[in-house]
Amino acid sequence: MSENTKILEVKDLHVDFLSYGAENHVIRDANYYVNKGEVMAIVGESGSGKSVLTQTTVRLTPGIISQGQILFEGKDLAHMTEKQLEEVRGRDISIIFQDAMTALNPTMRIGEQITEVLMKHFVFTKAEMEQFTDELLAAVKTQDPDAALAAWLTEYFRPNEKQMALWASQLKPLLSGADPRSAVIGWIKTTGNMTKERAKETAIDLLKMIKISDPEKRLRQYIFQFSGGMRQRIMVAIALACRPKLLIADEPTTALDVTIKAEVLNMIIQLVRELNSAIILITHDLGIVASYADRIGVMYAGEFVETGTSDEIFYQSQHPYTRGLLKSIPRLDTDSNEDLKAIEGTPPNVTRMPKGCPFHPRCECAMEICRQQAPALTTLSDTHAVRCWLQDPRAAEVRKKFGYEEVQP
Ligand code: SF4
Repeated sequence: MSENTKILEVKDLHVDFLSYGAENHVIRDANYYVNKGEVMAIVGESGSGKSVLTQTTVRLTPGIISQGQILFEGKDLAHMTEKQLEEVRGRDISIIFQDAMTALNPTMRIGEQITEVLMKHFVFTKAEMEQFTDELLAAVKTQDPDAALAAWLTEYFRPNEKQMALWASQLKPLLSGADPRSAVIGWIKTTGNMTKERAKETAIDLLKMIKISDPEKRLRQYIFQFSGGMRQRIMVAIALACRPKLLIADEPTTALDVTIKAEVLNMIIQLVRELNSAIILITHDLGIVASYADRIGVMYAGEFVETGTSDEIFYQSQHPYTRGLLKSIPRLDTDSNEDLKAIEGTPPNVTRMPKGCPFHPRCECAMEICRQQAPALTTLSDTHAVRCWLQDPRAAEVRKKFGYEEVQP
């Protein structure tokens, strides 16, 4: 369940790509946030900018951030150095990519690929051990010691439930001892620091969690020895190995056949909920979104055209593109003999964006103003916003003609 604490907040983000000397504004004015424990879905046709936006969130694309902020727990990822970003990627924010066959390394055993991320993020230098210890000693003086200890363990060591209880019981007496600083540093060296044995045990636990049988044998195998569904599960295991605070699942089931799609997706959502992490689910499948998302952002041609809660998007959508997407999927409450309605035309090429609203060449409600000037974002409620001239009071006649509910912006 969402806790209404923003873990990620992207503000006014503009991303440009250089191509043949020209600057293409691929992402324009993106604003979105994800609360702790929430499933935020980003939907839109292929080429709408969903993957570019979310991969740029962790600066994995060569796009140039010309404007905006990417605040993760208050820190701006847009201005972090590559070294600082390496600490965040895989540990605090991880990604399940679309195609496991290309995302995983075919020359490394599965076990090495899972343990690599654990060894990278949980083996600490002397300076880090001293810094963590000083932070803990300061926190227990000013906060409830048990809560401070739990928060500290979660932040730096990501224990599971069993480890949390054990480690807290080991650390508590050290904090009230004669030399707590040396004692806590000693504990990190011997217990907090990841060892190869513990990384292997964690990898085995992860394979069990994703329901892969005979995990010890499987860890020694290569990716070509796994089926498509199993490869995708291995990606899930790697992405969740560090118990990240935010998981980006980029079309995580597209490469799978329909019989195991739901199974893998259910597993991802369930595991993320167990970890109390947040998830950004990128998909073009509105059926998936309806089942899992708390909030939805609809993207078209590199910008959010509508954002809202699941109910607002499914039952009170106001943007013609969102409505078009909804009409193109089968629903239980529509006549089964009725043809599904596709949105005519194709999304624009980013190198040749139309003037005005980018959707106007395909929009059944387009007015003259739509061809001249891009609409601004209109806020309809605390959670619902739409980028469309239909929200202008002068568009009342057009709204009526196309059966839109009156909305008071
Ligand atoms: Fe259609 Fe105009 Fe709204 Fe764009 S601004 S979606 S063209 S009505």
